Amino acid sequence: MKTIDQVNFSGKKALIRVDFNVPLDADFNITDDNRMTAALPTIQKILKEGGAVILMSHLGRPKDGPTDKYSLKHVVKHLSDLLGQQVEFANDCIGQEAIDKAKNLHPGEVLLLENLRFYKEEEKGDTAFAEKLAQLGDVYVNDAFGTAHRAHASTAIIAQFFPNAKYFGYLMAGELANAEKVLNGAAKPFTAIMGGAKVSDKIELIERLLEKVDNLIIGGGMAYTFAKAQGGTIGKSLLEADKQDLALNLLEKAKAKGVNLLLPTDTIIADDFNNDAKTGVAPTDNIPDDWQGLDIGPETRAAFAKVIEESKTVLWNGPMGVFEMESFDKGTKAVADAVVKATQNGAFTLIGGGDSAAAVAKFGLTNDVSYVSTGGGALLEYMEGKELPGVKAINE
Ligand code: AMP
Repeated sequence: MKTIDQVNFSGKKALIRVDFNVPLDADFNITDDNRMTAALPTIQKILKEGGAVILMSHLGRPKDGPTDKYSLKHVVKHLSDLLGQQVEFANDCIGQEAIDKAKNLHPGEVLLLENLRFYKEEEKGDTAFAEKLAQLGDVYVNDAFGTAHRAHASTAIIAQFFPNAKYFGYLMAGELANAEKVLNGAAKPFTAIMGGAKVSDKIELIERLLEKVDNLIIGGGMAYTFAKAQGGTIGKSLLEADKQDLALNLLEKAKAKGVNLLLPTDTIIADDFNNDAKTGVAPTDNIPDDWQGLDIGPETRAAFAKVIEESKTVLWNGPMGVFEMESFDKGTKAVADAVVKATQNGAFTLIGGGDSAAAVAKFGLTNDVSYVSTGGGALLEYMEGKELPGVKAINE
């Protein structure tokens, strides 16, 4: 793997694609800086060697060019605090100001460019735009795992302008190594936990995992499509009606491969999609009309926890219920606690990004599992066996 360990950055200007797409509150305070801290080792190695660092990122999904709400200027202070030095900011990611500021950057200094997505060329993967960015640095480093599944100008297209000077940063290398460890070097028993709203988003991954896992746990909204497909009544719970055949097919495949597939047997039901709704417990296949399942029930929590705690490798993607509401977060919390216990017992535990990472952070357990990925979609696609454009661009 071509990593920054193969380069001495003394006197060089490293153009680093990071993923600083951090959540901000109404006052522009960063509510979770995990993606920023995750990029620090790469930045610090380059600075320590006497290189200069030019950082580029996107933030949010700006629709019509520059928008104050999505300006990366909001992260400059926090980044300066994290690095212990003042970070320079260019109000435009290309153009004269960026060129001048990049040119005047001294060894040991850091420049952050304004949001790449203020140009529609970024997401379009425009070559001319990528070339303008490329002019700012001598070496290209990709450390943005969260966007590695996108063939954008700064994540993939730009690499062609650095044929002999393109490398993975430490975050990217770590993410890939951990994903590989789970996919191709998992100690057994290997348990995958799948949750979240829709089975349709995760079919390909589930099918691939059936080739590898000993236990497959399915919870969250997607479980009700399985319950309904097997003849259950699920009230107003989430249902993907057109995916019922597929659910039955996955159950058949699991059986044929000898995979122990666990579905929720009981469910926390609510009379409304609301934290203050009236709640109760019901069998997952016998939910009353007008009620909906919003979390796994106590019997299921215990059954899932037992399997997880006995595992040597755990991959978790997707919450067990509507964990954003306190009334329905107990299933996700129980699974998180079980993953922590498995980690304490010596298991390697990988948490997929997105909502599972948010859930683990909500419970304050981020540091108690083996690895929390910074990539939601990127990790899913990598695990499905797809070649990520951001990875391919460095490798080829
Ligand atoms: P995903 O993006 O597919 O991983 O889904 C995550 C979302 O699924 C979270 O926002 C959860 O609130 C939601 N979710 C999980 N379980 C349920 C459920 N039983 N009913 C409705 N939404 C759910």
